[in-house]
Amino acid sequence: MGSPIIDEANRIAAEFVYSPEDVNRGVEAFLGQMKDGLGNEGATLSQIPTYVTAVPDGTEKGMYLAVDLGGTNFRVCSIKLRGDSTFTIRQSKVAIPQELMVTKSGKELFSFLAAQIESFLETNLSEQFESHVEKRRKASPKVPYQEEEIFDLGFTFSFPVNQHGINQGYLIRWTKGFDIAEVVGQDVCKFLQDAIDERHLPVRVAALVNDTVGTLMARSYSSPGASKTLIGAIFGTGTNGAYVEKLDRITKLQSIQGVEYDKSTGEMVVNSEWGSFDNEMSVLPDTKYDSDLDIDSVNPGIQMFEKRVSGMFLGEILRRAIMSMVKNPSVKLFGAPATIPTDSGLYETWGIDTSFLSIVKADESDDLQATKQQLKKELNIDNPSIDDCRAAKILVHAIGKRAARLAAVALGAMVISSGKLATDPVIDIGVDGSLIEFYPEFEAHIREAFCEIPEIGPEGEKKITIGIAKDGSGVGAALGALVARQNVAGSK
Ligand code: ADP
Ligand code: MG
Repeated sequence: MGSPIIDEANRIAAEFVYSPEDVNRGVEAFLGQMKDGLGNEGATLSQIPTYVTAVPDGTEKGMYLAVDLGGTNFRVCSIKLRGDSTFTIRQSKVAIPQELMVTKSGKELFSFLAAQIESFLETNLSEQFESHVEKRRKASPKVPYQEEEIFDLGFTFSFPVNQHGINQGYLIRWTKGFDIAEVVGQDVCKFLQDAIDERHLPVRVAALVNDTVGTLMARSYSSPGASKTLIGAIFGTGTNGAYVEKLDRITKLQSIQGVEYDKSTGEMVVNSEWGSFDNEMSVLPDTKYDSDLDIDSVNPGIQMFEKRVSGMFLGEILRRAIMSMVKNPSVKLFGAPATIPTDSGLYETWGIDTSFLSIVKADESDDLQATKQQLKKELNIDNPSIDDCRAAKILVHAIGKRAARLAAVALGAMVISSGKLATDPVIDIGVDGSLIEFYPEFEAHIREAFCEIPEIGPEGEKKITIGIAKDGSGVGAALGALVARQNVAGSK
């Protein structure tokens, strides 16, 4: 006799099945939207030119600062590139206070960021920094720092911006739960530089780098061998990807005036902003858990791909699926409602973190002990039955697998579009983000879907290498700052 709990979990899981046909329809749509974005402003895929026209080969050298404003955390680091594919990094990380993410004043957020940079300099680069502070105190604060006293900083900013050169970028829209209207349409480098200058720090914002571009550059710098990386992709709070495109295919560049860049490589890194792939919902899967989540989000109808794929949302999709089982009187998951404390995260929007999925997915024990513990820890649920735990695992698996197969749609389309499967022995993809790093088998699910795409297939899938770009945002931003300084030096 089947258990009503397991039956219902399986029924819901079936709603999340994303078939091989779905994958292929997705790839076709993605290819179309890629092309559209290369030709037109305001397309669904923004396909933003980054003006980065070369990717590193590992010989780059120098000492840089980098900061990363990406979603959940703000990171500050110093990076020494050794020129042999290796680097040393020091970093600090702080969670971004919720009240600074949704506020009226952009200055509040950026002052907070500058304060973190100052304390990083004091803690980690105290010798250099103190001599700076000393000089500033002796001289008038108005006396500018000498060129050689200034730290060049790469700014990893993982939101869509219109880039007007390497250290100038105008915010198109916030994503991932941020909402500060004042900053939209403004140059985020100037916001950061102004906050830095207010504290008289010897720091110059030299380059603005999307985290996907940073990941691509960092992976290309670090990966062994001569082959360069094709794609940088993020699966963290949000999801997005950047890739190396042929210049002559970025047809909208012809209508952009007044930006100088090096055309000699014939290539440019393009930031796709794939989080908004198919906002029109022509091919994306849609369950009632997805659509309810969207309605309750700060940006309904936008970032529809991201809302099915990234860390910010998977926990919440799961919560909604679990809630429907809790509310269902013929199922009574967790013996609901009596056994669920009213203050359980289950009753709160965003009450389940996506790390919960990784823990449950990784639990292969017969008695699902880890799942049980996590239900207690995360949701304050006492003594769930084994079927309760199994049901949670069934839902987790379904939601995680769909996310990975959707990721394969975006990555697969970029690989196919490059045409490199026919010519190159290896196609390299750099990735970053907690979801791909910690959710078990995320990459395996992606690879399985690659094999189901005829233009890739099992043969092509074997040529594709996927590697985490460790500390990608820091190293990538450092490489961005380096490229920017080379451009300045070159134009002198
Ligand atoms: P950011 O996006 O700020 O650069 P991360 O790459 O660490 O940071 O992504 C944070 C997101 O990943 C959050 O949405 C969080 O819920 C999710 N997350 C954190 N830990 C895990 C984990 N172990 N497994 C899956 N997702 C996780
Ligand atoms: Mg990140």
